[in-house]
Amino acid sequence: MTVRNPMIFCDFDGTITNSDNIIAIMKKFAPEEWDDIKNKVLSQEVSIKDGVGKMFALLPSKQKKDITEYIIDHAEIREGFKEFVAFTKKEEIPLYIVSGGIDFFVEPLLKGLVEDEHIYCNGSDFSGEKINILWPHTCDSECENDCGCCKPSIIRKLAEPGTYKIVIGDSITDLEAAKLADQVIARDFLIEKCEEHAIAFSPFETFYDVMEILKKREVTA
Ligand code: MG
Ligand code: ZN
Repeated sequence: MTVRNPMIFCDFDGTITNSDNIIAIMKKFAPEEWDDIKNKVLSQEVSIKDGVGKMFALLPSKQKKDITEYIIDHAEIREGFKEFVAFTKKEEIPLYIVSGGIDFFVEPLLKGLVEDEHIYCNGSDFSGEKINILWPHTCDSECENDCGCCKPSIIRKLAEPGTYKIVIGDSITDLEAAKLADQVIARDFLIEKCEEHAIAFSPFETFYDVMEILKKREVTA
């Protein structure tokens, strides 16, 4: 089977990076209240947007430099990602990063790999006393999830009728996007969620695996 008009929507935290950067920031810099907010997000008592906003509001804006440096020093990019980006360029497959992460760490970590115009994530404002998260990609009228950065809305905006939508992700925040996808490439918790919702997927651990999966389908622009 040869696939036409493919478009890739790839998560960032835990997918491109080996672990979640918001969790890493909170563990290192936030007072202990953050843990309670995180648990309420996981149990869905609080929306992702509300929870992430509240967690960052615990952090003084003046820590911007320390937080950014900490993440850039500690975040690890998953094996094969650079080669994967080169592969998508060679095959002329549009690659979009759709992330619930924040611009001040997502963009520097992807510098030289993915252009800013292909990165959809949350914004940040350090002009007040505490960090204020900005939401340039909130849910459209078809999503009531209060996602923060709404992956299904971004897919609806970028994909045209006939686009073969490939979603790559690792967690619960990729589930709604996976439901819209023609092909899902999953690791970690997203595997469980796909099984629960009877969504077909291919498992991956490195981006070399992702390339093999795409080559098998003969995905070409
Ligand atoms: Mg993730
Ligand atoms: Zn949404």
